[in-house]
Amino acid sequence: MTDIQTIEAAATTAPHARRRTFAIISHPDAGKTTLTEKLLYFGGAIQLAGEVRAKAGRRQTSSDWMKIERQRGISVVTSVMTFEYGGHVFNLLDTPGHEDFSEDTYRTLTAVDSAVMVIDAAKGIEARTKKLFEVCRLRDIPIVTFINKVDRETRDLFDLIAEIETTLALDVAPMTWPVGRGREFVGTYDLKANTFRRNQKGDESTQDLAVSGPDDPLFDTLLPNGAAETWREEVFLAAEGLKPFDLQSFREGHLTPVYFGAALRDYGVRDLIDALGAYAPSPRAQIADKRAIEADEPKMTGFVFKIQANMDPNHRDRIAFMRVCSGKLSRGMKAKLVRTAKPMPLNAPQFFFARDRSIAEEAYAGDIVGLPNHGTLRIGDTLTEGEDIVFKGVPSFAPEILRRVKLKDAMKAKKLREALQQMAEEGVVQLFLPHDGAPAIVGVVGALQLDVLKERMDVEYSLPVDFEPCQFSIARWVSSDDKAALQKFVSLKPSSMADDLDGDPVFMASSQFTLKYDAERAPEVSFSDVKDYQ
Ligand code: GDP
Repeated sequence: MTDIQTIEAAATTAPHARRRTFAIISHPDAGKTTLTEKLLYFGGAIQLAGEVRAKAGRRQTSSDWMKIERQRGISVVTSVMTFEYGGHVFNLLDTPGHEDFSEDTYRTLTAVDSAVMVIDAAKGIEARTKKLFEVCRLRDIPIVTFINKVDRETRDLFDLIAEIETTLALDVAPMTWPVGRGREFVGTYDLKANTFRRNQKGDESTQDLAVSGPDDPLFDTLLPNGAAETWREEVFLAAEGLKPFDLQSFREGHLTPVYFGAALRDYGVRDLIDALGAYAPSPRAQIADKRAIEADEPKMTGFVFKIQANMDPNHRDRIAFMRVCSGKLSRGMKAKLVRTAKPMPLNAPQFFFARDRSIAEEAYAGDIVGLPNHGTLRIGDTLTEGEDIVFKGVPSFAPEILRRVKLKDAMKAKKLREALQQMAEEGVVQLFLPHDGAPAIVGVVGALQLDVLKERMDVEYSLPVDFEPCQFSIARWVSSDDKAALQKFVSLKPSSMADDLDGDPVFMASSQFTLKYDAERAPEVSFSDVKDYQ
């Protein structure tokens, strides 16, 4: 089947089969925001590329706590954007660019079926790209690579490909090859179909030209002064010397197809979006505690991977983002919140677009819906049509910074506890309540999370708080098959033990040395720096 036939066939199959739910991973500045804008533009979700940024600006001015974002010029908020193109429904999950909010990114990656890895053609694999790639690999998420900024001076493309292969231990299959580089970058050559897509700004004007192959004289005109010959050698090497594309290997996360382009100028973006439609997987089965849930099962299931407050400053609601994993979600249906076993009516599920949100009358596996709630839903929650299953794998990572929360007005201790609990349920910080009754400790992966907490406590709860260093710098979840041994360990160390949000025991240590010391003396107890929610 050709790519186009695949696209056409997909349009007529089950609704979930048309879904492509993905995220973009990259190092800051590689072009993620620009590419997001262009994808939305191609998908018709926005009229003018540039609105992603513009919208972020509006949001920031309308919400107090986002002052932090504005001041620091970073994006703290993640969201989802849905658009249609070529018969597919794309759900693009945005992730925060700043490393301090990487926990949020990791959780978001639990809700996607594929990812686009954007690489700056002048820089290659950078630190954050590698880290995010590793997270994708843990989950076998297939990756499509987009080598961006080919309109500028680039590194040698074969070097770049070799670097991806060795640094990420991943097979690389170039799908296109750029015709020219820098200012002479005039289009992309499809290595399989032997077609030439001339660079044009915008979607409609993209020109596909039938050529006889790399030897077509057109390329001598486009790449004068002998450049065409060098280019032909490259194309030969790329097509013959490198790995061919293999769908299964890609789907299993062992091979990445590579596309070249310049997002800023719309170049190569259509190649990428077509590839996502043709090759990226439709919603995958999701692992729950009792069994795997297939996307085509008739009963609705889903899990919450993100909670966002203050999306609308006029309403103090919180939006829980749920990935639908199977079945059909219909507005008004009653779902079961498995953690509490209580029914939860889904009266106003929402879809998000670049500019708007709208009520979702129905949603299918792969879709991300926003569920407004006032604190009922937590990160990691499973909603079903009745079955008692719990989805696995929305992780919590041991914090790297621990701080004691100091309240300026001691009379408000109870309110503080409630507010911290809410913030922890939203995943803003982790909360640890020491067994010895000492003031609460919050844990974060990045320091900016503390700034967000402080600002929100002040603005939303009128609770000015400060953070004091505490004697601990390490937190580990403790567990054991031997309940008595665990109990003994916990009771011997009340000043080093705390409960997390779910009441699970956490051991806190002041250094790696003390952690090792105590761990060695309690061999039946295991100490973990990752915890799956629930
Ligand atoms: P992000 O941090 O990954 O979201 O990166 P941005 O999308 O904000 O892009 C970082 C910078 O690179 C901006 O100044 C963009 O205008 C620029 N940029 C993005 N894509 C391209 C491209 O294809 N070509 C060129 N020349 N610049 C680009």
